[in-house]
Amino acid sequence: MAEDADVIVVGGGLAGLVAACEIADAGKRVIVIDQEGEQNLGGQAFWSFGGLFLVDSPEQRRLGIKDSFDLAMQDWLGTAGFDRDEDLWPKKWAEAYVAFAAGEKRDWLRAMGHRIFPVVGWAERGGYDAMGHGNSVPRFHVTWGTGPGIVEPFERRAREAQKSGRLIFKFRHRVDALNITNGTVEGVSGSILEPDNVERGQSSSRKVTGDFTLRAQAVIVASGGIGGNHDLVRQNWPKRLGTPPKFMISGVPEHVDGRMIGITEAAGARLINRDRMWHYVEGIRNWSPIWPRHGIRILPGPSSMWFDATGKRLPAPLFPGSDTLGQLDYIMSTGHDYSWFILTQSIIKKEFALSGSEQNPDLTGKSWRMTIKRATNKGAPAPVEAFKQKGADFIVRDNLADLVSAMNALSGDNLLQLDHIKRQIEARDREMTNPYVKDAQVMNIHNARRYIGDKLIRTAKPHRILDLEHGPLIAVKLNILTRKTLGGFETDLDSRVFGNDGAVIKGLYAAGEAAGFGGGGVHGYRSLEGTFLGGCLFSGRNAGRAAAKAAG
Ligand SMILES: Cc1cc2nc3c(=O)[nH]c(=O)nc-3n(C[C@H](O)[C@H](O)[C@H](O)COP(=O)(O)OP(=O)(O)OC[C@H]3O[C@@H](n4cnc5c(N)ncnc54)[C@H](O)[C@@H]3O)c2cc1C
Repeated sequence: MAEDADVIVVGGGLAGLVAACEIADAGKRVIVIDQEGEQNLGGQAFWSFGGLFLVDSPEQRRLGIKDSFDLAMQDWLGTAGFDRDEDLWPKKWAEAYVAFAAGEKRDWLRAMGHRIFPVVGWAERGGYDAMGHGNSVPRFHVTWGTGPGIVEPFERRAREAQKSGRLIFKFRHRVDALNITNGTVEGVSGSILEPDNVERGQSSSRKVTGDFTLRAQAVIVASGGIGGNHDLVRQNWPKRLGTPPKFMISGVPEHVDGRMIGITEAAGARLINRDRMWHYVEGIRNWSPIWPRHGIRILPGPSSMWFDATGKRLPAPLFPGSDTLGQLDYIMSTGHDYSWFILTQSIIKKEFALSGSEQNPDLTGKSWRMTIKRATNKGAPAPVEAFKQKGADFIVRDNLADLVSAMNALSGDNLLQLDHIKRQIEARDREMTNPYVKDAQVMNIHNARRYIGDKLIRTAKPHRILDLEHGPLIAVKLNILTRKTLGGFETDLDSRVFGNDGAVIKGLYAAGEAAGFGGGGVHGYRSLEGTFLGGCLFSGRNAGRAAAKAAG
């Protein structure tokens, strides 16, 4: 039977788009299938902050940051903690990916018109020893234009290929089965969903109006992770993190449903590291939601004080921005699934950034005039200010007694005692005038301000939390926010998927989040951040190039 294309790509997110562009540019015919409508092209990447992990970049060098492949590899291995037999391919992917980030990644993107905001961010700072978790130096490079800015070059290439007839989009086509005969992929079949013109990111209709079957020599699964499906998240929840949270909010749209992962697994593909995932602990409920249970992650600077549900300060080194999964582990051990920030107006103004393209109109809109206000503005950025005023998780008061009483009312748990919290804040505040400092978080603040990027736009001038001049006081109830899937289909470096018998399934490839961003879990247990979009670029490119080469 004639083939409909050389390669079929399931998923029009970043990984699928990158793969499809490479296939079309190699002169092969490709079909991109997505269950969502055309308005959703780019998937999660459109909503992202566009942060990219780069090593020894000109942006870093300009800011006096000395980085290298060896330092980045040390950080990656300390963060990943690879410790399983099935980490064989993930580890090879890690080495190849860090080399990509230290090598051609930036130039490859730049040649397509991609640009970077000049102040490099410092995510996941760790705080253990040199071989432990975290970035030794700032490496989080924000795309000028955020998420849409990273999708744009690939959408442009895909549209050109579409015009020349080498690429066909099939929107509102949902894959329900992978067709494999005698260990060789033949194509996919599925349902045609009714047209739906909901806005990008909103949940769309699942009403079926027909079915389809498409044939090709190869299929690339680039269908994303499971973060929008809380049942699956709970089912795969790692035992090491205790029982799954009762209450979670969603950092991803509903189409991140994990359904295709089950379908691919049922067809014989080997899924590894399913218990590794990356969820945030600084989630706030969106006052203007786009998708169900829509939550936003606060990207915090280092100064907010962090308390658990009982009012006990989180132990060192679990400071804002240091160790996401360490914090999740600690919070789950308290028996509650939320925690609190207490901070001042001066801190929120300088240190709160919200992850997501729509929360950063200055960077997303590529407006220098607006962006410059991050350093000069009297108040917090407008989207942060809007959350402060309208967000269900924000409390603003001009004294601590009222703040704590409102916190108790908001949680309904009545676990916080004013004296307990006051003693801890006063003790921390005393260290602000001590040049030798015993408090590790305060040391951390001083360290952050030694980096010009942090001093300019990310770290407030050290001050006492209870200093009225820096008020009012603010408390934020922090929820657990689902986001990324770190495990996935086991692949070799050509993104070819292994079957349960250990042999490659002929014609089957996986990329992006569905492949654990490469190999079935390139991150191991944890991430250095900015590594997800980059993982889509790298694994999508490898999958596309290899599938095109294999197509006769
Ligand atoms: C708000 C936000 C901020 C983020 N910020 C960053 C950041 O700064 N840096 C970073 O590195 N990462 C960031 N990320 C993560 C990153 O954006 C994602 O991990 C990445 O974009 C995933 O891409 P993907 O192509 O693998 O999957 P997706 O983008 O999920 O695309 C998969 C596509 O497959 C389709 N699909 C699924 N199943 C089927 C099926 N059965 N049939 C047909 N189609 C199907 C879906 O509809 C979807 O369009 C962020 C994510 C979000 C949501």
